[in-house]
Amino acid sequence: MTATHCPYCALQCGMNLVPENGGLTVAPRPDFPTNRGGLCVKGWTAAELLRHPERLTQPLVRDRKGAALRAATWDEALDRTAAAFRDAQQRYGREAAGVFGGGGLTNETVYLLGKFARVALRTPSIDYNGRFCMSSAAAAGIKAFGLDRGLPFPLADVARTDAILLAGGNPAECMPPVMQYFDEQQRRGGQLIVVDPRVTPTALGATLHLQVTPGTDLALANGLLHVAIRDGLIDEDFIAERTSGFEAVRRVVASYWPERVERVTGVPVQQINRAAHILGEAPTGMVLTARGAEQHSKGTDTALAFINLALAMGKAGKPLCGYGCLTGQGNGQGGREHGQKADQLPGYRRIDNLADRVHVAGVWGIDEHDLPGPGRSAYELLASLGTEGGVRALLVMGSNVAVSAPHAGAIDERLGALDFLVVADFFLSETAEHADVVLPAAQWAEDEGTMTNLEGRVILRRRAAPPPEGVWTDLRILSALAGRLGCGTGFPPDARSAFQELRRASAGGAADYAGITYERIAEEGGVFWPCPSEDHEGTPRMFLERFGTPDGRARCHAVEHRPAAEEPDGEYPFLLTTGRVMPQYQSGTQTRRVAALLGSIPEPLLEIHPATASLYRIGEGDAVRVMTRRGEARMRARLTRGIRQDTLFAPFHWGGAGRANLLTNPALDPTSRMPEFKVCAARVERVMEPA
Ligand code: SF4
Repeated sequence: MTATHCPYCALQCGMNLVPENGGLTVAPRPDFPTNRGGLCVKGWTAAELLRHPERLTQPLVRDRKGAALRAATWDEALDRTAAAFRDAQQRYGREAAGVFGGGGLTNETVYLLGKFARVALRTPSIDYNGRFCMSSAAAAGIKAFGLDRGLPFPLADVARTDAILLAGGNPAECMPPVMQYFDEQQRRGGQLIVVDPRVTPTALGATLHLQVTPGTDLALANGLLHVAIRDGLIDEDFIAERTSGFEAVRRVVASYWPERVERVTGVPVQQINRAAHILGEAPTGMVLTARGAEQHSKGTDTALAFINLALAMGKAGKPLCGYGCLTGQGNGQGGREHGQKADQLPGYRRIDNLADRVHVAGVWGIDEHDLPGPGRSAYELLASLGTEGGVRALLVMGSNVAVSAPHAGAIDERLGALDFLVVADFFLSETAEHADVVLPAAQWAEDEGTMTNLEGRVILRRRAAPPPEGVWTDLRILSALAGRLGCGTGFPPDARSAFQELRRASAGGAADYAGITYERIAEEGGVFWPCPSEDHEGTPRMFLERFGTPDGRARCHAVEHRPAAEEPDGEYPFLLTTGRVMPQYQSGTQTRRVAALLGSIPEPLLEIHPATASLYRIGEGDAVRVMTRRGEARMRARLTRGIRQDTLFAPFHWGGAGRANLLTNPALDPTSRMPEFKVCAARVERVMEPA
């Protein structure tokens, strides 16, 4: 039996893998403190993919554009990849070689992928799909607290706080085992306020549900703070002692009187007042955001508005209080710390900071001047593919951008315009279908490595079985490619060596892993960063005495509501918002291949209110066409009174003609470069199917 973790979301539930019938099966692991034995249906079925018949087990190459993929040896596939990168860089410059990573990769792979781009390719062109996930909350956390760790407290604290405001999150469907903490909080007499345009299972269980219009969370947060100030619910002593910049916020929110906020958000005045009082009068409280509030062209400002609310009420930097974001992807936290972001070096260091560059260059044994500078953010990198000055040869590892990136039709075109695309994955994903070379990669149970869960707890995945014959680990792939590019050393193919180097590279940085070892993680059930030395106990709770800013004060930011980048009009009269359903994970490359997960929702769906559906003669289960200014997608209608009449909801887990991201708007947040996944203008019509 091997004690390890689920391969999917950021809860990183502990699980045991047990040998059975020549394979592995999942068993509970009650000793792991985060999920305490609980798993969702995705976790229970995860081991099925290890022996899935569609598993890639040998490299594939395409002899010319338009030809079919054929089997190849590793030597041929890697030689072609290295030659293509060299050729692109000789013809177009160093930045013409690009790397695109993922928020599900281990810390070791993330670390080596960033080093591969900067040292083996010497290119600034690297970013990853976490830019589409947590980047707005991360940017807001850095602005306000000087440091971004999704939750600055363990989940156990959620169960003991008095009031929680959760904006744009649906953990009851997306990570069900986490609900044990929210349920316990309410059993103890605590109150839960959920902000969501839909009546989700999480909202159904809440004390109060604010059914906000998509794209107006910022106005709601400012309105709640307006009421809090008006009704004496803020903590003036905390504001004076622990924050800066609040007077500008006070001036801005003065005009967010509840009647105005009701008009903008659709949330009734009485509910705005009640929510402010629940949170403001509670002795302890937390403000949490997730993708619903963050994936907007104003996502950073929205997260800042919720942070202002927590700070003004004195509900941060104290026990059982704080602002946090519910990270989504499996290693969404570690994946944003160790160097696969365009502007970042390991340990949450900045690539445009001289001291940070000197430190990391020293660990990597190179001259600081040889380190490239910042590159393009994820969508901007993808939009540059095959263009003049853009990326011409791209490595994609752990990401399926053809499904998960916004304006997916344009992404298809850009992938097709590349001189060369190499994809490392377990299955032939929609992105891999575009590739010139496909490299079969090991799955989570076939290699060891660390992940950092949504609490900031660094955990250890153990190897339960060797990869199938012909399949390589991510680290071995990077090591072999680096060798072919002239870097025969510095790219260890084993996780332990990579982690030892990561510890040194992160030492002294914001996300300091220097004191974390595999042995400690195993003994202690995970170690919370920052952990600067082996005799340091780690940091489960942050900011209790000072925030991470130079003066130790949290910074309040005056932020104004502004409309979404695209608003409904006569041609596109509805608000389309996208999200998740319980049995699927991200782009579905893995979960769409598990029969038990497909059973309940076998094809792309569109949630629509019955009153709206009747206007268009749409019935339950009808085929519908959803259209926006970027494209159209085919889905099946699901009628529900749990959605606003002006709103349509589409999960984004499917490929092909049902891709929700064919519709989404790539308008970017000016700070985080997050695309506006959560709101655009759309129209819908019934598709007549043959009888
Ligand atoms: Fe836990 Fe998330 Fe895996 Fe479900 S998908 S078992 S919630 S880690």
